[in-house]
Amino acid sequence: MGAPLRRFRQRLFWGAGLALLSLLMLLSCASPESPAGAGGGAASVGEEHRDTPEAELLLWLDPARPAPGDCTVLTAGPCPPQGSIRLETEAGLVLSPPHRCGDYVYFIIGIGLEVPPGTQELRLFLEGFAGRREITGELQVAPCDFETSRFSVPVKWTDEEAARRLPEEQERVRRARQGAAPAPLWQQPFIMPLESRISSAYGAVRIINEGAPRRHTGLDIAAARGSPVVAMNAGVVRLAAPLLAQGNTVIIDHGMNLSSSYLHLDSIAVAEGVHVSRGALIGRVGESGFASGPHLHWEVNLGETPLNPLQLISDDPLRWLPGPAVNPARIEALPHL
Ligand SMILES: [Zn+2]
Repeated sequence: MGAPLRRFRQRLFWGAGLALLSLLMLLSCASPESPAGAGGGAASVGEEHRDTPEAELLLWLDPARPAPGDCTVLTAGPCPPQGSIRLETEAGLVLSPPHRCGDYVYFIIGIGLEVPPGTQELRLFLEGFAGRREITGELQVAPCDFETSRFSVPVKWTDEEAARRLPEEQERVRRARQGAAPAPLWQQPFIMPLESRISSAYGAVRIINEGAPRRHTGLDIAAARGSPVVAMNAGVVRLAAPLLAQGNTVIIDHGMNLSSSYLHLDSIAVAEGVHVSRGALIGRVGESGFASGPHLHWEVNLGETPLNPLQLISDDPLRWLPGPAVNPARIEALPHL
């Protein structure tokens, strides 16, 4: 079968196929195996190169046309029961570890804010069949406009103490977002941590004190001081501490290198290392750190790459990932920072 025809057929069967696959996975994969191999790059359905007459490899991407800041889920298979799985992508895309469940493998692919609209090439390598098999595909990045704002902040936010403490705290945050659980720790859709007015959009271009433009890596939700903030999904608290710029901060590891962060809290209601369920109270709205009024800065990261938190709610792209039953032994085994 030629590549264009294969691509057409795969796209035709995308919706129904993925829904059926997801259902089968949910029915048959309550306790998925540990992920195998290492991650690498991006995805869509594509051309397969193989040297054995085994079953045709299929690969899906959903959503098919993410915007910068979005994530998409790549599903591929059938995969060999043993052997490595490697995905290679172009610069600007970030990958979760591979999550294997039954005959299929799943990757979350994050699209960095700086990725230009257009085509990104993906290459998936599977070892463990009679020979190595490879699927190539394309990810289409949609154009997206982000607002620009210009404002000033107090000079103390840029003073010597800030210059000394910020790199140290940024390193602490980076380590907290590394993620210690390779498989998903969640089983339900993601929810808003706080229902109130959005006061600053994700990805907005900000020119502060006439400096170089910077991107807003999260979403700001304005609310009265003391309003409850809840976990957007289940996970393990990897950081719960007062920081200079971020203020009282909670970072939750949801597995697969996906984390959520809650900044400028008035108070913190959880401790590092504990498992929280979706909707659990984790703190209360405040204006600690570098904040100009009570609000929640809410951030979602894949590794260190900030993603659009609202996409996880509005599009629910992670619904295709077969969620494992939470394994308490695995959570206990997570290393402390
Ligand atoms: Zn913010």
